[in-house]
Parts: sequence; C-alpha cells; structure tokens
Amino acid sequence: LSERLGGVFDRLTKQGALSEEDVKTALREVRVALLEADVSLPVAREFIKKVQSKATGSAVTKSITPGQQVVKIVHDALIDTLRGEGEPGDLKIDNPPAAILMVGLQGSGKTTTTGKLAKRLAGREGKKVLMASLDIYRPAAMEQLAILGAQVGVDTLPIVAGETAVQIAKRAKQQATLGGYDVYMLDTAGRLQIDETLMQEVEDVRDAVEPRETLLVVDGLTGQVAVEVAEEFDGKIGISGVVLTRMDGDGRGGAALSMRAVTGKPIKFVGSGEKMDALETFEPERIAGRILGMGDIVALVEKAQETLEAEQAERMMRRLQKGMFNMNDLRSQLEQMQKMGGMQGLMGMMPGMAKMKGKIDQAGLDDSLLKRQIALINSMTKKERANPALLQASRKKRIAAGAGLEVSDLNKLLKQHRQMSDMMKKIGKKGGLGALKGMLG
Ligand code: GDP
Ligand code: MG
Repeated sequence: LSERLGGVFDRLTKQGALSEEDVKTALREVRVALLEADVSLPVAREFIKKVQSKATGSAVTKSITPGQQVVKIVHDALIDTLRGEGEPGDLKIDNPPAAILMVGLQGSGKTTTTGKLAKRLAGREGKKVLMASLDIYRPAAMEQLAILGAQVGVDTLPIVAGETAVQIAKRAKQQATLGGYDVYMLDTAGRLQIDETLMQEVEDVRDAVEPRETLLVVDGLTGQVAVEVAEEFDGKIGISGVVLTRMDGDGRGGAALSMRAVTGKPIKFVGSGEKMDALETFEPERIAGRILGMGDIVALVEKAQETLEAEQAERMMRRLQKGMFNMNDLRSQLEQMQKMGGMQGLMGMMPGMAKMKGKIDQAGLDDSLLKRQIALINSMTKKERANPALLQASRKKRIAAGAGLEVSDLNKLLKQHRQMSDMMKKIGKKGGLGALKGMLG
C-alpha cells in the first residue's frame, strides 16, 4: 500500500502544479488506504470530500511537490478529525465519589480496561478507587475483576449472589460514599451483539448512579462494527468518551476515525496489550500515521519543509553568484540585520565569518548606521536601486539631502554595497552555499 501511494505521489511530483485532477488521483488512493485501515465507507467518503475542497483551494508552494502537498493536507485533516475537545486522558472525576461507567460489547476489553484505568487512577493520580462488576450473567467475569483488583492493588466490591445489576451499582455507590473513595468504576456485562435487554439494564444503572464518565470500550480491530456500536451506545446511553483496545495488534486504527466522525465524542485512551500497564493516552498524531499506513509519510512532510528552506537559501545564493546583489537586496539584508541584532550578531552566527568581523568593523558597519543606510536606499528611485551604477553626482546630492545626510555617507554606502557584493560572490563560489544552507536548516 505504502508503495502504491508512493507511486502516485511520484507521478504527481513530475508535474508542476496541483490540478484538480492531481488531487482526485491522489485522493482515490487515500480513499483505498482509509478503507483498508477499516474506516467505514461513509466516513471515508465524507473525509475525502473535506480534504478535496481544502487541497484544491490551496495555493501550490513551489518547493513542495504537489504529492507532498496532498500528503500534508491529508495528514493534517486526519489529526484534525481525530482530535477531540480537551486533553485526551482527562476524566471528570472531581467531586467524590465519581462513578465511571464502562460499557461495550462482550470481549471488547471492558474488564481489562477497567483494571488498567483503575491502576492508572490509583497510581499516577493518587485516587482511592473501588471497582465493581455488574456482570451477573457470568460469575467468572466477577472473579476476573476481583483477580485484577488484587493484582493492581485496587479494592473491589465484595460479590453477593442473586443481586441485579442496578442493586450492585447502588451498593457500589453506597460503599464508595461510606469508604471515602474518590472514584468507583462499574464494569458492565456485554453481549456479543447489541440487544435491547442489555441496553435497558445499562440505562437503569446509569439512572441509578448518574456517572460522571461513561466510557465506551471498543475493539480497535473492528471497523464497521465499531461505528454501529458507538452510534447505538451514544444514542441510548450517552457516552462521554471512547477507549480503543487492541491497538497493539495489526489494526490500522480506522475505527478511531469512524467513531470520531460519527459520535463526535473524544477518544480518551488506547489499549495496547493485555498487561495492566498497557493503557496509553490517545495521541491523534500516532493514529493518523497508522491510518495512512506509513510513518514515513510524516517524515516526507517534514522533509518537504526542509526542502522549502534549502530552496530559499539556494535561490538567494544563485542571485548572489550571478552578481545580482542590488540595493534592494542590500536593503532587505540591512532590515534583516536590524531584526537579528545588527551586523555583528549576524556575522557571529555564520560559520567561517568570524574573520570577516574585523573588516566589517573597519568598514564602519556598526549597528547605529543601519537606520540611516536604509533611509538612503529609500530615497533612491526604483531604477537606481536596481542598478546603483546609474547614480550621477547631482542625484547623489538629492538622495543624501532626502535622507538628511551628506554625500560622503552615500558614497560610503555605495562602497559598502560593492564590498558586500564581492564578498557574497566569493561566498557563493567557495562552498559558502553549504554553510548558508546549514544556517537556515
Ligand atoms: P470484556 O468482555 O469486554 O470484559 O473483555 P475482557 O476485558 O475480558 O477482554 C477480552 C480479551 O481481550 C482478554 O483476553 C484481554 O486480555 C484482551 N484484551 C483486552 N484489551 C486488550 C488490548 O488492549 N490488547 C490486547 N492484545 N488484548 C486485550
Ligand atoms: Mg468483562
């Protein structure tokens, strides 16, 4: 896949401009990439539409190839869609005791994630945490949570036979209040498919405890299913965030994009293994790279940026080598120097230029002159700036007067221009190009 995308972008590279057809061709491949990453079809379609209008509307940057430009737009748009409001790992759990309701299909990783999150809250955030299993259908599920609790050093609600899910939830709330817990986590039962009885049960639990967070746990390896599950749970129960599990597997993370697009709810955590510390804060950049199926695509974008800077430097050096260092160039140099703390500061930054410093001081290039020199250049006509050799004695007088200075000041400036012009030509020829590139990159 990576190769196919690369191929398309190479083809685009050979052309000068980013036409609508170019964008379409590239995005056809991106669409395939999204579908292969398990992004649901409607979401992929919508995403492509959004990127298409963005890409076609944007001006082509000369030093970035059209292909790279499409890559950057796609990558940025992915991150944009994946990022929810607020910090990914944040949970609203002040005001103890706060209930966290864990919902999702059976086997999605609810119980495991409950243990991981409890460990994180108890450890990193120093919260007092209580866990309770509401899975009355499988006694083994309750024991599973108790074992995890013992393993991570978090209390679990004692198991009482014959209670309903709502009764357990209420008992957990009572115990959390009496025991001075900050957080109590409710691990609900899941079914293989969404069913009405289960939904009703979770709704009743929700109403009984009014959870501060309702986290939907979804298997990151499922694409289309994840979207349906998210829609259903969000519609019926109302979720506050998503945890994507099994992201340590081969999954391409398309489910993340689908769920963000469909529910608009933030993805908060990512499960990356069976162990209790395999829970990470969601990072949109990582998933974006994964969906595109290539970390190197990001590198490519970064390289494009470097290329831009290198090309700017090269363009300037080419001008200098051709002796095209006129008064406009000198003025922009002088202005640049003002910004960068004067000539001395600038020369100090350029490798191999320390030797030149003495000469520059001799030439009277101290920083207080910069302003006056710029004023002199400003009083020249456009033609004179492009070719200072045109300047006659009478014009010199007028220009100096215009800047409130003497003709000798102007002569010094002209001499300085000639010196710098020569100096620049030398740098251009003697490997100074690399030095300058190094400075800009
Ligand atoms: P539940 O039915 O939703 O409670 O799912 P469980 O928590 O019992 O998890 C089902 C299986 O998935 C177990 O074998 C877990 O170890 C495994 N599992 C859960 N989360 C992850 C994960 O992030 N990565 C991997 N590789 N396995 C996971
Ligand atoms: Mg379970």
